[in-house]
Amino acid sequence: MKKTTIKRNLFPSIYCSLFGHDYEISKKVTHHVKEYTCSYCKKELTTNSNGHLIELTPKFKEINDILERMYTSRMQRSKRKTFVSSIY
Ligand SMILES: [Zn+2]
Repeated sequence: MKKTTIKRNLFPSIYCSLFGHDYEISKKVTHHVKEYTCSYCKKELTTNSNGHLIELTPKFKEINDILERMYTSRMQRSKRKTFVSSIY
């Protein structure tokens, strides 16, 4: 067990090319778009508009930040609307 851990830490990219990446959700941008990080080599992926996984470049990080802000504000607005309609 210990040997495997050391190997993973020393050669994460080699480990990934042999056994494949181990992606974990690192950020939920919207209901459909998420960001993933490989727990071994820290490679990042994101979901694009077609629902496919692509590499998370700085450009896509920027797009996701904007998406997240729009999504959050829309969620807050719809929450407020629900609150108002529940009063009347
Ligand atoms: Zn990896």
